[in-house]
Amino acid sequence: MSVICVIGTGYVGLVTGTCLADMGNTVTCIDIVQEKIDRLKQGILPIYEPGLEEMVERNVHAGRLNFTTSYSEALKDCEFIFIAVNTPTGDKQGGADMRFVESAARSIAQELDHYAIVINKSTVPVGSGDLVTRVIRENLANRKVSFSVVSNPEFLREGSALLDFQNPDRIVLGSSEPEAAHKVARLYLSLRAPIVATDLYTAEMIKYASNAFLATKISFINEIAQICERLGADVKEVAVGMGYDKRIGRAFLDAGLGYGGSCFPKDVRALAHMADEAGLHPQLLHAVMDINHDQRRLVITKLTSILETLQGKTIGVLGLAFKPNTDDMREAPAIDIIRWATQQGATVRSYDPIARETGRVALEREGVDMTKVTFCDDAYAVAEQADALVVVTEWNEFKSLNMKRIREVMREPVLIDGRNLYEQSEIRRHGFVYRGIGRGATP
Ligand code: NAD
Repeated sequence: MSVICVIGTGYVGLVTGTCLADMGNTVTCIDIVQEKIDRLKQGILPIYEPGLEEMVERNVHAGRLNFTTSYSEALKDCEFIFIAVNTPTGDKQGGADMRFVESAARSIAQELDHYAIVINKSTVPVGSGDLVTRVIRENLANRKVSFSVVSNPEFLREGSALLDFQNPDRIVLGSSEPEAAHKVARLYLSLRAPIVATDLYTAEMIKYASNAFLATKISFINEIAQICERLGADVKEVAVGMGYDKRIGRAFLDAGLGYGGSCFPKDVRALAHMADEAGLHPQLLHAVMDINHDQRRLVITKLTSILETLQGKTIGVLGLAFKPNTDDMREAPAIDIIRWATQQGATVRSYDPIARETGRVALEREGVDMTKVTFCDDAYAVAEQADALVVVTEWNEFKSLNMKRIREVMREPVLIDGRNLYEQSEIRRHGFVYRGIGRGATP
């Protein structure tokens, strides 16, 4: 079993550290935010992820999982150092902000006094392995400490992060030092996943290419949805019909309000930026981003085409998080939709089973007029006296709402199903004016 340090206690770092501890390793997770570490020590998690709290508790109790803000404490005797800090969009051109990775590398260099393998788990631009090597070398100054750098991008999804970490489709390892990559591979041996061993640059690119491909699938089906709507076909059934084809697959063919979250938007932007910088013209990536942006606008277009104006109207918003089973609000479609609706004079009643607090913080941070936003305790409260209801996040509990009850408390029975959750004929039977995304076929 190994001694491991994980830098960053966000969605990736905390899941990685906890799962590695659960596999029997001794893990110290480090974060620069004192409050996060203080709360983690009390068993309070900074994020919501199904099953994580229990797993953290079990491993802390077993003495395999520790939390600290001290690099010297975290790096003591450790053989593997995972960098799992955030890499958000950094500039207007869309490039990744590498400040957090660089700062982590500097801190490693300042405290490291023995050989260790530094593993980049953050999603980082091609060439970042070299950057980390350079920053560590520079900050080691004249101290004779050797280290290796391995790229090991993470593919877990928020909402099913534990399962994804424990059952990966593949483990990607990139390094110019095969022996170091081999040692990292041994950490994952018990997961019995295929290992793709390659060079640093290729490993870094595999992550971006994978996310860009998935985002492309989403924008593709959203474009098809627009065509379906105009020509009278139902994109939901089109996706099913396409998905049976093994060359295509059903996953990521759900038309809706587009992708959001902490990965796809920033990663497609960063990849396009890398290509731009290299003198290329990544047309497909730009189209993927444009379609995604327009998709959110559809809600406002559909609302105004039915209600004529949003001035003075009450709009119910079901779901705030960028997807179900997470509290993550980063680049969530709900933010834009609520901003645009309130800017056009509407008041918004909203509900999310988990992302209520993170939703409030995100809306405030994004400058939404909070005097026009109410947070309700359930979907039925959202519907009260609403002129329209918009499904923004496909939480399971929204799939089985009592539509008769919803209809009875609404002022106007208008339902914009931004995630195509419902059977349109069923909803119309309850007297609703129903609009899905790409559902042109009339029942
Ligand atoms: P996050 O924002 O949830 O967490 C990052 C954490 O790192 C924060 O707690 C922050 O305080 C901490 N941090 C920043 N600088 C630090 C430093 N110098 N030392 C110690 N701690 C520091 O981010 P995340 O969602 O976990 O993403 C981390 C990386 O993993 C990103 O590059 C992301 O693209 C990638 N990734 C994310 C997901 C996902 O679903 N969230 C999936 C795969 C890959």
